[in-house]
Amino acid sequence: MNVPLLDLKRQYQTIKDEINAAIAEVVESQGFKLGPKVAAFEKEIADYCGTKHAIGVASGTDAILLALMAVGVGRDDEVITTPYTFFATAGAVTRVGAVPVFVDIDPKTYNIDPHKIEAAVTEKTKVIMPVHLYGQCADMDPILEVADRRGIAVVEDAAQAIGSEYKGRRAGSMGRAGCFSFFPSKNLGGYGDGGMITTDSDELADLLVSLREHGQTEAYHHWTIGTNSRLDALQAAVLSVKLRHLDAWSDGRSANADYYGSRFEGTPVTAPWREEWSRHIYNQCIIRVPDRDALLAHLRESGIGCALYYPVPLHLQKCFQTLGHTEGDLPEAERAALETISIPVFSLLTDEEKAHVADTVLEFTGGSA
Ligand SMILES: *Cc1c(COP(=O)(O)O)cnc(C)c1O
Repeated sequence: MNVPLLDLKRQYQTIKDEINAAIAEVVESQGFKLGPKVAAFEKEIADYCGTKHAIGVASGTDAILLALMAVGVGRDDEVITTPYTFFATAGAVTRVGAVPVFVDIDPKTYNIDPHKIEAAVTEKTKVIMPVHLYGQCADMDPILEVADRRGIAVVEDAAQAIGSEYKGRRAGSMGRAGCFSFFPSKNLGGYGDGGMITTDSDELADLLVSLREHGQTEAYHHWTIGTNSRLDALQAAVLSVKLRHLDAWSDGRSANADYYGSRFEGTPVTAPWREEWSRHIYNQCIIRVPDRDALLAHLRESGIGCALYYPVPLHLQKCFQTLGHTEGDLPEAERAALETISIPVFSLLTDEEKAHVADTVLEFTGGSA
């Protein structure tokens, strides 16, 4: 039996009529730039995340880039973040002229270790950017405490974490800004690229609305320099429909992850760790095994969809060589890069498929199946 890592065709079949109608409405209107669909979806996301504002942009990468610009991060500033994340997190830091400062992760959650942050703070530190990796929030209270005490802003990279909660607070509502991605494989995925920035600050929201249209205040009048980065109306229409189903999908993922958790208990396979304060939405279901590369080969041969997130931590990427890191600097991130693998967790997996994935993993790792 082949099991895909993610099957978006299956999802589309369950919402086809709603989606097609929403797309047709935009096409009939021929209004593709911002407009009512985008405004409505921005309001829905602000309500969903519990923030005052949400500003639609062209991608998750741009959400981070524009949030950093709006917070005032610039040349030679430092941004403390995790080395164990998608490239965009640190790429955006460099693109605004700032320097990413990497702090090692907690090996249980794979999120930034909050207790190692303060040692990395300097007078140049402008932002701490935790990533809510795989759909579970970083441990925010100690992060917010350090940031507050040292006068540093927090920007959340919530690209994988829409609807995730930390002690009852939603991802994207805890820092000065939260950044979301609607890349197709995210839990709330569009039919193309898209992103969103959430914030409670009126001032930041105004600036972001301007920055996404070349820093204009009104057409052809520019008070600052931004870029072209809007969420388009077709994506907003699709995403509004999908948002109505998001909680059911997230609950399905969570139930699937729990199933794996029970199957892998007492075996050499480490299932995802869920903090007690956490609503985890499992953008990925990451398991940890000593002989990861061999398991990867075994799953591929068996037709089980799987992937590595992330095989090379950012501090060891070629483009960041100038930061002067060597192997061994951030040992937990490096170990996670060697020992983890993502397995299918999407909500429409059948019971038979789930069982087959667990059986195939266990048949290899020698746990009792
Ligand atoms: C997906 C992702 C991004 C970037 O989002 P895009 O929409 O692909 O630009 C940024 N950070 C993290 C952690 C992500 O997973």
